[in-house]
Amino acid sequence: MRWCEKSWATSSHKVIRVVKREALDFFDLTLEELEQILTPRFRARQLYQWVYQRYTDDMSEVTVLPKTLRSELAEQLRFDTLTIVDKAISQDGSEKYLMRLQDGHTIEAVLLKMKPQKHHDDGGIAQEARYTLCLSTQVGCKVGCAFCLTAKGGFVRNLTAGEIVAQVWQIKRDHQLPAHRGINLVYMGMGEPLDNLENLTKAIAILTTEEGLAISAKRQTISTSGISSRIDKLGALNLGVHLAISLHAVDNETRQQLIPMNRAYPIESVIEAVKRFPYDTRKRVMFEYLMIKDLNDSPQAAKRLVTLLEGIKSKVNLIYFNPYPGTPFKRPDRARMEAFRDALHSRGITCTIRESKGLDIEAACGQLREKAAKG
Ligand code: SAH
Ligand code: SF4
Repeated sequence: MRWCEKSWATSSHKVIRVVKREALDFFDLTLEELEQILTPRFRARQLYQWVYQRYTDDMSEVTVLPKTLRSELAEQLRFDTLTIVDKAISQDGSEKYLMRLQDGHTIEAVLLKMKPQKHHDDGGIAQEARYTLCLSTQVGCKVGCAFCLTAKGGFVRNLTAGEIVAQVWQIKRDHQLPAHRGINLVYMGMGEPLDNLENLTKAIAILTTEEGLAISAKRQTISTSGISSRIDKLGALNLGVHLAISLHAVDNETRQQLIPMNRAYPIESVIEAVKRFPYDTRKRVMFEYLMIKDLNDSPQAAKRLVTLLEGIKSKVNLIYFNPYPGTPFKRPDRARMEAFRDALHSRGITCTIRESKGLDIEAACGQLREKAAKG
């Protein structure tokens, strides 16, 4: 805690503080941490509910709290973790946000709208779009994949837990989504989530808190470029999240060309780590496969992929390479994608082609930020 732990009290409540050095980032506080600062404890739960479920960041509006406490909190907590600086809306309804952090760096987060879903509401059937939020975990990335724009700017820093949580809060607030509205989270924006495992774990604890955003771990997917040792570490934490592996190639030579880290963590080590991952038997590991024309999109590659996935409850997501100026890689045509998918299907592997959501708004990670940087 950055606050001096000296208590200050009024008749009904107490805030542990006095010498204020720097306001605390609200979004970086777990409920337990907030309860240590704000007593009685139910006050912390009330504040969590107002901020996360009513999107209030102006303490004067939190009328459930005593007035004196509200003005104290306004001084001691800050909510300006991220600012939305740009938003691009795709024809398919995806929305890509560019957000500025306190230190001036920018990150991206994308709201994807999936097909309307039928669900029962008081006996009736309603149509509701399904929302998935794609979140960033770092400014830049150390992994340096050859096809990825995020990698081009190098690594800057890890995001704090608060900066991860605030992406969800900002976008939910921007859409005024009702608190109960279920959304899925995928950590597939900028950065390698497993390179920032400590802050990510804390963010997941905050995001799953019932009094807050209440997004269950089952609705969250961590995507990794395949740091085998960290997959084991994640498994040991037993968070209950889904795992997605960015495989992208079926032989080490090709994969090394795309993901330099493959030298340290070759395909076999990634597959072994996935097999060790403590998985609910009903769930499947998702393998992401970025399709690049004439590089990894052959029928032979599809066959080899089937062999690699033997013994793993998996599903494969084929992704069209999303081109950007200066890249040597090309996007395959639809026929090639479908042939690859059909080859997997015929061998009993569930495979979907990820439609290029937001292609017109440069939805692949790093692309909006790159555009903004170029003015
Ligand atoms: N670092 C993690 C998660 C973030 S990258 C990982 O690599 O899994 C998330 C996804 O964006 C990856 O699957 C990656 O393949 C994809 N991606 C990166 N650049 C892309 C591009 N130019 N076109 C399409 N997908 C891209
Ligand atoms: Fe990092 Fe993922 Fe981009 Fe690779 S694809 S550079 S791991 S963000």
